[in-house]
Amino acid sequence: MLKRVAVVGAGISGLTAGYALQKIGLEVDIFERSQSVTEFGAGITLSRNATSLLKELGLMELLSKKGYFPMASYIRDYKNANVISAMKFDESFITLDRRDLVEQLAQSFEEIGGKIHYGTEVQSINPSSGAIQISDENINTYELVLLSDGIKSSFRKEHFDNQEPQFTNYVAWRGMTTSDLLPQFEGSEKVNVYHGPGGHCVHYPTGREGLINFVAIEHNRSWAEESWKVEGNKSDFLKCFQGWNEELLLMLNSTEKLYKWGIFDRPLPSTLHQGKCVLLGDAAHPMVPFLGQGGCLAIEDAYCLMVLLGEIEDLDKALSAYDQLRNKRAKWMQKRSKLQGLFNHISNPLLASARNLVTKATMKISVENIHSYNPRKELSSILK
Ligand SMILES: Cc1cc2nc3c(=O)[nH]c(=O)nc-3n(C[C@H](O)[C@H](O)[C@H](O)COP(=O)(O)OP(=O)(O)OC[C@H]3O[C@@H](n4cnc5c(N)ncnc54)[C@H](O)[C@@H]3O)c2cc1C
Repeated sequence: MLKRVAVVGAGISGLTAGYALQKIGLEVDIFERSQSVTEFGAGITLSRNATSLLKELGLMELLSKKGYFPMASYIRDYKNANVISAMKFDESFITLDRRDLVEQLAQSFEEIGGKIHYGTEVQSINPSSGAIQISDENINTYELVLLSDGIKSSFRKEHFDNQEPQFTNYVAWRGMTTSDLLPQFEGSEKVNVYHGPGGHCVHYPTGREGLINFVAIEHNRSWAEESWKVEGNKSDFLKCFQGWNEELLLMLNSTEKLYKWGIFDRPLPSTLHQGKCVLLGDAAHPMVPFLGQGGCLAIEDAYCLMVLLGEIEDLDKALSAYDQLRNKRAKWMQKRSKLQGLFNHISNPLLASARNLVTKATMKISVENIHSYNPRKELSSILK
């Protein structure tokens, strides 16, 4: 019977999976190379496909106290901010400050006996034995090792495939501002998405101290920076979004700090497990963030792994079932997210008008198609 589990990385995937496995009675050690929870101060949206699982895990009540329920989303024109399409949400759609999400996951995990070893970089792993090396003389052996070490996962490169993350020709400008600076449009305190030529922009409240999160995406053929995140320059930012709605730009420009992120992705490896190791979250399936699903899929991964390990005694069989289930889902979401970028950024005015008509006609169906995913159905057919 599986007992001791190691998790590499204390991001959304490692913490959710660690919590879920600790909850079904396993002993989980999470190793995080940072000294503390270091999630970037920015927002995150979680949709029903993830929040229904967090609810089942007993985490939603706590997160609800920290987050915000926008209850609706508007798609707007980039220039005049006119509403192209709108849809209502219920309380299964939450927005949060990332720091609150990760801190709560870490706290809940520790409260049920899980251990987080901060400031501890895992240096090597052995997928056949489950041994992980955390310092020159310190090697621990586990029955299962979860690799939740993010898009740059070096262990994936070493033990799964040779793929490097690839720049997608998209750059995200990210910042936070305050709710008193929201544009005066009706509904500006909901989730607002602006479609424009060669770019799109999203803003929403995070639930923390009236803070509004925004992300503005532009096409950019090169990412010459060494780091994936650099402090951005406001005049460069305004140049990229010239001609966009003035009220919107005024709010975005009010941010104290503006960051530029290169958006990278990495195709799925042919398998998500090797011996006693399994990939989760961005280490397994990073995706462009245009549907806000990377973190949601990390939560789905954690839930599915918990159910499969709880029900299937043979580790190899449980991990193969996880691979089959998650590979299919993540491949679909990676493709769907990329397509959304092309759709959001149409430049030709005629095509953009057609895009707006399609958005109006299909927004509810396509959003519902993503948010209504429920892994329980597929899990029960695997476990039959
Ligand atoms: C602009 C943008 C907006 C987004 N918006 C959304 C959204 O609204 N909704 C949504 O669901 N998703 C969103 N995402 C995606 C989401 O942020 C990611 O999918 C998610 O954060 C991935 O979490 P993770 O735990 O897999 O990886 P990470 O958060 O990268 O965590 C990996 C952790 O592993 C640690 N680590 C790495 N190597 C080692 C090692 N050797 N030893 C110990 N520790 C190690 C790192 O320090 C890090 O803490 C967005 C992404 C971007 C870029």
